[in-house]
Amino acid sequence: MNNQERTKMRTQEANIRNKNFEEVELGYNKEEALNEANRCLHCKIPRCVEGCPVNIQIPEFIKALKEGNIKRSYEIIQESSSLSAICGRVCPQEKQCEAKCIRGIKGDSVAIGALERYVSDQALLNNFSTTKSKIKKNKKIAIIGSGPAGLTCAGDLAKAGYNVTIYEALHKAGGVLTYGIPEFRLPKSIVEKQVKSLKKLGVSINLNVPVGNAITLDELRNEFDAIFIGTGAGIPKFMGIEGEDASGVFSANEILTRINLMKSYKEDAKTPIKHGKVAYVIGGGNVAMDSVRSLKRLGYNAHLMYRRSEEELPARKMEVEHAKEEGIEFNLLTNPVKILTDEANNVIGMEVVDMKLGDEGEDGRRKVAPIENSNHIVNCDIVVMALGTAQNHEAIKYSNIKLTDRGLIAVNNSETSLENVYAGGDAVTGAATVILAMEAGKKAASEIIKKIN
Ligand SMILES: Cc1cc2nc3c(=O)[nH]c(=O)nc-3n(C[C@H](O)[C@H](O)[C@H](O)COP(=O)(O)OP(=O)(O)OC[C@H]3O[C@@H](n4cnc5c(N)ncnc54)[C@H](O)[C@@H]3O)c2cc1C
Repeated sequence: MNNQERTKMRTQEANIRNKNFEEVELGYNKEEALNEANRCLHCKIPRCVEGCPVNIQIPEFIKALKEGNIKRSYEIIQESSSLSAICGRVCPQEKQCEAKCIRGIKGDSVAIGALERYVSDQALLNNFSTTKSKIKKNKKIAIIGSGPAGLTCAGDLAKAGYNVTIYEALHKAGGVLTYGIPEFRLPKSIVEKQVKSLKKLGVSINLNVPVGNAITLDELRNEFDAIFIGTGAGIPKFMGIEGEDASGVFSANEILTRINLMKSYKEDAKTPIKHGKVAYVIGGGNVAMDSVRSLKRLGYNAHLMYRRSEEELPARKMEVEHAKEEGIEFNLLTNPVKILTDEANNVIGMEVVDMKLGDEGEDGRRKVAPIENSNHIVNCDIVVMALGTAQNHEAIKYSNIKLTDRGLIAVNNSETSLENVYAGGDAVTGAATVILAMEAGKKAASEIIKKIN
């Protein structure tokens, strides 16, 4: 290996991993981590830090790692990120910190995400803890939603000495980290450990409490000094085509929730997903990739259908590569126009149409249009729609909180139109990324601290 190349991460063999839900990437061992850490040039002006939405002091944590001081390395990361074992796995580093790395100009950028993962995994293994402020504040804050936005906001407030309670609608904490991203990309034991370290900071988590139904926002406002809303964007979108109400058509969220949260692939599952023959997932983003790779693991002949070409696939390149290696079939430049069903309304196939690309549209993406008389039939047993999501506003349904024209919660410096009610993450931006949700949680925590002190 020369210094231009990054240290490769070992993965499970494609033909083995496409039959199990264990983690695909195996992480670095000590020798590999040190090899990679030694590639960092410790630039005087570290552009990688600018590329990180939460500004982790990357060269500093890598330096401590090189010096063999993992505890210090972890502390440096924790100053900016409380969910680093998660971010090390799922952040799109190739568009953020690693995209700015000087090493990337002539060769491979430093594998910053893999190093973050190594340090954080070591910290979790050795139970390194984050410290809470010794000053106890006499103020109570409620957090609605336990996704990365809510967890980060809760962590920062607890570290500052506030009394924090999270309300979560589901029976497990973590938001998309728990119910959306599959085990083979993000083991749930990692999410659980990160949630546990938050509890150690004194945060209470009330599960099975859908705010808006079990308790209203106004009731919480009477009880708490400030509130943070981090309810995400969990409502699936559909195409609106004929046959979409058939048995065997799912949203990606439903399939992934059933698999991740309810382990419905197990033989004794209470809500089983049938281990079937042919599945089509419609869409081209990370959610589509997670769904199709999950279905492959259930034994399906799993297809991804996307209306543009491979070049336009919005999913991370690495996910596309992994999917190909695992034997996912890609049906590109194709779009469904009708779901076909039997007499009992079960899916039996789809009528699809070939597509052609046109000029670039205003959104910077190439336009796409159906090719006349190209309709044909594909046979399948299930269809999964992975077409994006919208906000679920249950939590605020009896309030007069202001929304934007796009139906998102409107904020000004993280505060909503209701005093002392803050919001962030996907509920404010629309579906985005883990690190951006964390950044929003962090910002809201600092605004809350400034306001209520
Ligand atoms: C399948 C999938 C894969 C993804 N992969 C990646 C990836 O690889 N990398 C990446 O950076 N991003 C990824 N994302 C996007 C990322 O996960 C989200 O942007 C992020 O989780 C948003 O965080 P959040 O805290 O705003 O909301 P969420 O994670 O959605 O959490 C919101 C929480 O609020 C709870 N809630 C909602 N309503 C109520 C209520 N009324 N009362 C109480 N609780 C409520 C929900 O149950 C949920 O637990 C992925 C998303 C999906 C769906």
